[in-house]
Amino acid sequence: MTYVVTENCIKCKYMDCVEVCPVDCFYAGENMLVIHPDECIDCGVCEPECPAEAIVPDSDGKASAWIEKNREFATLWPNMTRKGTPPADADEWKDRDGKAELFSPEPHKD
Ligand code: SF4
Ligand code: SF4
Repeated sequence: MTYVVTENCIKCKYMDCVEVCPVDCFYAGENMLVIHPDECIDCGVCEPECPAEAIVPDSDGKASAWIEKNREFATLWPNMTRKGTPPADADEWKDRDGKAELFSPEPHKD
């Protein structure tokens, strides 16, 4: 089992998750984060820390559409270990459904 970041993260990027991960296995895109499935030690610490409830175990039905995206983009995006500044409109997007189509394959830029 591993943990997976799902579409709730899109345009939120609060990044509370990266602060608690003991193995620094979060990777950042332009508008969401992913977890590297081979680095995650399945501790579950990040799941309750995410204010957007974006992190789920891969056994959760919500994970299925995102398992491959986490694996693929964790090898393409930069590692993220420190909480940054969330987007100014993050709260506006937090509880919206149907954000999957807004996914950006671009990497995070400082
Ligand atoms: S805390 Fe949740 S919404 Fe924020 S970056 Fe991490 S997974 Fe995404
Ligand atoms: S489950 Fe643990 S190891 Fe995996 S991403 Fe979350 S905090 Fe990191």
